[in-house]
Amino acid sequence: MQLDDLYRRVIMDHYKAPRNKGTLDAGSVTIDLNNPTCGDRISLQMQIVDDKVVAAKFTGEGCSISLSSASMMTDAVKGKTTKEAIALAEKFSALMKGEDVTFDEYEDIEALSGVNKFPARIKCATLAWNALKKGVELHENN
Ligand code: ZN
Repeated sequence: MQLDDLYRRVIMDHYKAPRNKGTLDAGSVTIDLNNPTCGDRISLQMQIVDDKVVAAKFTGEGCSISLSSASMMTDAVKGKTTKEAIALAEKFSALMKGEDVTFDEYEDIEALSGVNKFPARIKCATLAWNALKKGVELHENN
C-alpha cells in the first residue's frame, strides 16, 4: 500500500536522523523510561520555563518505532506550553487507540498511526510520550 510506504519512509527518516538527540545543560527535568517487552530505553530531558517547553532532547536505544516517536515528540512539543504538550500526548493516545485524529501541528506523527494494528508495538510508540507526561508532572510538582 502506498500510504504505508510513505509512513514507513517518515518513520525511517526520523530513526536514521533523529531530531533533538543529545542532552541539555542543567536546569532541566530528566525522565528515564524503558519498555522491557521490546528493550527500548529513553532518557528525555526538557527545559521548561514559565510553563513553556523551551527545549527537549533525548538519548536512548531501541527499535525504529520507539526512537522515531521520540524524535517526533521532541520536535512537536518544542515551543509549546505544557498544557499544549499534554494535549498532544492525549491526542497521541487516541491515535494509538485507532481513533481518527490528525496532527496539523506536526504531521509526521500521523506516520505512527499504523502502529495501532500491532498491539505489542504500541508501548514502543508511547514510551516517549509517557516520558513527556512524567516530565511535565515532575516540573509542576517542583
Ligand atoms: Zn520497541
